[in-house]
Amino acid sequence: MSSSDILKTIGSIYCVGRNYADHAKELNNPVPKEPIIFTKSTACIVPFEGKIFIPDNLGRCDYETEIAVQLGNDLYQANQDRVLEALSCVGIALDLTLRDRQNELRAKKYPWVLAKSFVNACPLSKFRQLNDSKEIEQLEIKLEINGELRQQGSTKQMVFSIPDLITFISQNIPLRSGDIVLTGTPANVGPLKNHDYLVAFLNGEAIAEAEILRT
Ligand code: ZN
Repeated sequence: MSSSDILKTIGSIYCVGRNYADHAKELNNPVPKEPIIFTKSTACIVPFEGKIFIPDNLGRCDYETEIAVQLGNDLYQANQDRVLEALSCVGIALDLTLRDRQNELRAKKYPWVLAKSFVNACPLSKFRQLNDSKEIEQLEIKLEINGELRQQGSTKQMVFSIPDLITFISQNIPLRSGDIVLTGTPANVGPLKNHDYLVAFLNGEAIAEAEILRT
């Protein structure tokens, strides 16, 4: 499915905080005992290709490279078997985050939404069908910026597996076919600069690249 096709099919975007222990540690957060779920607005989806514009007046904007999965069925209070059946497509998302803004909001115990749903805050690669139900436990992502490796993570390092995350979300929220779940970032998040060139890899294959413009 091409990036532009998937933009039309996405219902809601659910995200998971601190799903890699090494990332929780780098931001001085405890590893959670149950998944931390938040959302991003679908209005901030942008194809992860070409040039991605991020206004320069928003403070520090961090990249967070994440495995993203799309559901092919509705799910509510589903068991793991139904979740595995529903997992349809996989791609890479950048959960772009206004870190200064997020820290201010956290200090006030406010929700994070203002730090997570600014314009172009959700670049998405092309998505492809998952090969089989085993593949969901064997996904690896990598992000290079200007030719240098910045982030690397695999489903094996996750605090909560993708099926466990979706089972948990579905206990609480009715999920719809077309919804996507961003499954958390590995360590080594950092700020984006004007003209940074990003290449994202899924299981070793470069599937998305874009230049950042901050002006
Ligand atoms: Zn994230």
